[in-house]
Amino acid sequence: MLIDSHCHLDFEAFDEQREWLLEQCVSEGVGAIIVPGVEPEQWSDLVALQESFQTDSCRIGIAAGVHPWWLDGLDRAVASLQHRLQSFIDRYSVVAVGECGLDGKRATPMDIQQDFFKAQIELANANRLPLIVHGYAAHNQVLQCLTELPAEYGGVIHGFSGSPQLASQYWHKGFYIGVGGTITYERAAKTRRAISAMPLESLLLETDAPDMPLDGMQGEPNSPLNLPLIAGQVAQLQGVDLERVAEQTTANARRLFGLSQFGL
Ligand SMILES: [Zn+2]
Repeated sequence: MLIDSHCHLDFEAFDEQREWLLEQCVSEGVGAIIVPGVEPEQWSDLVALQESFQTDSCRIGIAAGVHPWWLDGLDRAVASLQHRLQSFIDRYSVVAVGECGLDGKRATPMDIQQDFFKAQIELANANRLPLIVHGYAAHNQVLQCLTELPAEYGGVIHGFSGSPQLASQYWHKGFYIGVGGTITYERAAKTRRAISAMPLESLLLETDAPDMPLDGMQGEPNSPLNLPLIAGQVAQLQGVDLERVAEQTTANARRLFGLSQFGL
């Protein structure tokens, strides 16, 4: 069984085919999907998604958080976000806080992004939850935040792209490395080196669908059905068989997100 640790299954791209897709996931061996939150208005969609589409053969875990791309339209009061997030967590079972983090390519000033990121780290700690982190063109700042305010229940650096040193720094801070379609590109040599060098115990699989298309599939929406291809690449880079990758990455995701309490 494989677990897609990061898939935006609630996004419009899947509206026409969500039920079919989840049936196909079962035949492809994808037995669980973690769907991250991106903004407060969307969190309740995740609850509805879980209620309507989760089956015994394909479980759906949800997370609540504010993605740095969605900060622009948001009330800039950190306290009000923390309050909304806490009430949501009190009402619904979430497996993590996120996705949250920092993006160096966005217009929102870095100090505001950092305030929101830290507010979400605090809340994850207070609720004994891990974090799903989006770190793009801002790894130094992400690491700095995690040094000033350690994530006590760890998390995952989703869609990891970077050097072996960077991956190892995150792992030492209690973060798993989220491996997605990036490693299917020959030119992503540094990230591929990082994924070969890291212990299999540190890796989670993800598609980030409908984003992050695999090599050769640019221009089409990505899908959780591509997870076995990513697992296959990890197997090649690690020099182990696919079974071993499935077994270990599933155990890693179960452990991080406490999936046993959800019957996984
Ligand atoms: Zn995402």
